[in-house]
Amino acid sequence: MDKTLFEKIIDREIPASIVYETDNVLAFEDVNPQAPVHVLVIPKKPIPKLSDADIDDQSLLGELLMSVNIIAKQLNLNNDGYRVVINNGENACQTVFHLHLHIMGGRGFSWPPG
Ligand code: AMP
Repeated sequence: MDKTLFEKIIDREIPASIVYETDNVLAFEDVNPQAPVHVLVIPKKPIPKLSDADIDDQSLLGELLMSVNIIAKQLNLNNDGYRVVINNGENACQTVFHLHLHIMGGRGFSWPPG
């Protein structure tokens, strides 16, 4: 199967501005930022979307959320707050089918989202 864009970023085949990396997780700046800070956090394991994760992925999913926490501190987002988004599938406008968490900060957000 063809590699997704994000697998190519993991393999350093296409460039990205990487802000955080562990054995299991990579985070990099979104190329089309929707906020002053917009970072994507991905597992290195190619899970297409959240609903494809299974019980074996439980600790990896926890590690992704903890990574968000660490990165948000690193980027000084804690004082004002930030939004974390997972688009899952077509109705949610997911465009890259490699699980990713959006961290967005540096501005206020409204609710409900569009
Ligand atoms: P989603 O709509 O949740 O699937 O989000 C995919 C995100 O990937 C979008 O916010 C895009 O701007 C972002 N994106 C697409 N290509 C790249 C890339 N080469 N580097 C960084 N972010 C990207």
